Amino acid sequence: MNIRRQVVEAMYKVCDQSELLRSIGKISNMANILMFHRVNDYDSDGLTTPTPVFEEMMRELKKRYQIVTLSELVHTIRTGGPLGAKVVITFDDGYRDNLNCAAPILKRYDIPATFFVTTGFIDTQNVFPWDASNTVLNPLMTWGEVRNLAKLGFEIGAHTVTHPDLGATSHDDARREIRAAKQHIEGELGQKVNAFAFPFGRRDCCPVEVSKIVREEGYASCCLGYGGKVRPGSDPFRLNRIPMYPTTIDLLMEVDNFLTYFDGTTRFVGVPVIRHKPNEW
Ligand SMILES: [Zn+2]
Repeated sequence: MNIRRQVVEAMYKVCDQSELLRSIGKISNMANILMFHRVNDYDSDGLTTPTPVFEEMMRELKKRYQIVTLSELVHTIRTGGPLGAKVVITFDDGYRDNLNCAAPILKRYDIPATFFVTTGFIDTQNVFPWDASNTVLNPLMTWGEVRNLAKLGFEIGAHTVTHPDLGATSHDDARREIRAAKQHIEGELGQKVNAFAFPFGRRDCCPVEVSKIVREEGYASCCLGYGGKVRPGSDPFRLNRIPMYPTTIDLLMEVDNFLTYFDGTTRFVGVPVIRHKPNEW
């Protein structure tokens, strides 16, 4: 850990004990939608959060913030209510560990979450391209397992059928993916699907025109794959998310608006103080 990081972390811990950050967080009126992929103890790549770390994150978030459903957050945006200190938990892709490892922890702390599933690969042996070189197998859920998640009270959202880059497909193909994923989940679960999440995290993978298609196809919200805060007046069909952090303190510093990883700015109680390259952290 470099010296600058040590200083920033020490400053954060002092501020954290004083409750100052939470007060400023409420005033700053920004919410955080967190994006996870996997929670397990058999893999250790960049998409996987170890179970004890995930549990610590959920325990600390529950103590400090108001964790709400995605639809509650969208309602708050639409009605102009206070966003400060609100957090939403989401998962992408439909990995089996979402049910086996993440869901029990979420239930233990009574935390709601939305799981975005890639419908064409549920109940298959599909290996996503980014997992192809992984020596550990990360199986996807079956429809029975997705139903079990829904029965536990979690929201199931759509993440397309085949996980294409919607910035590179034609609008007709994008519409087919967006429509068919919704219809498939609704058929399997017998309940309405309101939430959609773009595949992939780059900005060019999440075009504004495709968000319009998501709205036209009857969804109530659309999450993006890249980082940023939800603010008053945010478009419910352009909701930024915070990708998962490797440690709890990294996550808490981000949610507290103390350290913003994505734009390369370290903010001390909301004020930019250090510019740095994001990958330093
Ligand atoms: Zn995905």
